[in-house]
Amino acid sequence: MRLHRRDFLRSLGAATAAAAIPGCATIGGATPGRVVVVGGGYGGATVAKYIRMWSNGTIDVTVVEPNAEFISCPLSNLVLGGSKAIADVTVSYDNLGRRHGVRMVRDAAAAVDADKRLVRLAGGGELPYDRLVLSPAIDFMWDMVPGLNNAAAQEMVPHAWKAGPQTVALRRQLEAMQDGGVCAISIPVAPYRCPPGPYERACQIAWYFKRAKPRSKVLILDGNGDVTSKPGLFKQAWAQEYKGIVEYRPNHVLTDVDARTRTAKFETQDDVKADVLNVLPPQRAAAIARAAGVVTANDRWCEVDFLTFESVKVKNVHVLGDAIQIAAGMPKSAHMANQHAKVCAAAVVALLSGQPPNPAPVLTNTCYSFITDAEVVHVCSVHQYDAQKQTLVAVPGAGGVSPAMSAVEGAYALAWAKNIWADTLA
Ligand SMILES: Cc1cc2nc3c(=O)[nH]c(=O)nc-3n(C[C@H](O)[C@H](O)[C@H](O)COP(=O)(O)OP(=O)(O)OC[C@H]3O[C@@H](n4cnc5c(N)ncnc54)[C@H](O)[C@@H]3O)c2cc1C
Repeated sequence: MRLHRRDFLRSLGAATAAAAIPGCATIGGATPGRVVVVGGGYGGATVAKYIRMWSNGTIDVTVVEPNAEFISCPLSNLVLGGSKAIADVTVSYDNLGRRHGVRMVRDAAAAVDADKRLVRLAGGGELPYDRLVLSPAIDFMWDMVPGLNNAAAQEMVPHAWKAGPQTVALRRQLEAMQDGGVCAISIPVAPYRCPPGPYERACQIAWYFKRAKPRSKVLILDGNGDVTSKPGLFKQAWAQEYKGIVEYRPNHVLTDVDARTRTAKFETQDDVKADVLNVLPPQRAAAIARAAGVVTANDRWCEVDFLTFESVKVKNVHVLGDAIQIAAGMPKSAHMANQHAKVCAAAVVALLSGQPPNPAPVLTNTCYSFITDAEVVHVCSVHQYDAQKQTLVAVPGAGGVSPAMSAVEGAYALAWAKNIWADTLA
């Protein structure tokens, strides 16, 4: 089947499957251009690969990323439970260069000169661009948890909300904790990255305790008034699978932490002292977004045009993934970042060849959560561009949640991870 370029671009945002059509690099005549991508995570690596594929290799793409390997946040809660190791969620960047001709620069972007269209690197170099894509995710707002605003305190009270050494450090603390101890998890007021992630984490730690230290407890101290994702399914898991192990306490807005004594302090509730304390601090778009001048909402997030993911403020700079001001009902997830990346990749290829972007993108999202090491629940949604409202809106009736946890969904969740890693990096 021969796809006309316009029709093909129109279908790009529709689904991951659409993006996997072989021969999708057959568009011709794209004007060569230079794209710099900051961040080689779920959004950045995907946009880099797809711009190369969909421009038939005519657009030059450079990714700036300080990490040597891709370490996935999705599935990293299983490392805390002990059913997976950090190596199981680590993927090489090699194929981006070898198969797709993406240039990888191991450095951090320090500044953006939008007038000169230049990215300045922490290592001193400069990268010129025609279009810049930022997918740097989040930074933590340490000023809102002053007691954790130094490296020593962050080691004692790990966040493990960027997968890597912090994940391993938190796992070690759980292993070292005596049976009968308490692990407390502090959740910030939404929006934060991965709405169901903290509750999945509570399940994974409880799964470990149930087997290795059955007298121990997981205490969830939620800044929100209720569980922010799949509340019925998580509460059912805590009442049945983890009865007597998990305790959920809403309305615990954290104000500070004493790292030495592992004590969490709250706006209105009593202090809580734990044996292992895991604090997820409030979050905002990462520092480079601020440096680029694209943070426009509440001094925290980046507003974008959802047809192109171009910043509403700075021309030729696109923002993807966790850093953006989300549309209603849109989670900050890897699946969503992957979908942002495909809409953006198609738009960048179109714009650099003088074409209009797809006027009607459709994006999908599924977030799986592991309740045990093998049984899983999901939530999914579909988001369609509304030309009148100029935003993405959740399509009524097109999503939903699992009826109950199941091992069948466990297999789907592992397949989801395998697929998205291949889609992003293979
Ligand atoms: C514990 C946990 C579990 C999760 N589970 C799921 C799940 O099951 N499903 C799901 O869909 N989502 C899940 N998520 C959410 C998911 O990880 C994020 O939504 C996703 O990673 C967002 O993609 P991103 O590209 O915005 O950021 P990331 O994937 O985090 O990538 C950002 C990259 O930018 C780099 N970077 C930052 N600053 C700079 C700079 N100045 N210069 C160069 N590079 C820079 C970073 O090193 C990083 O590699 C989970 C998150 C957590 C924490």
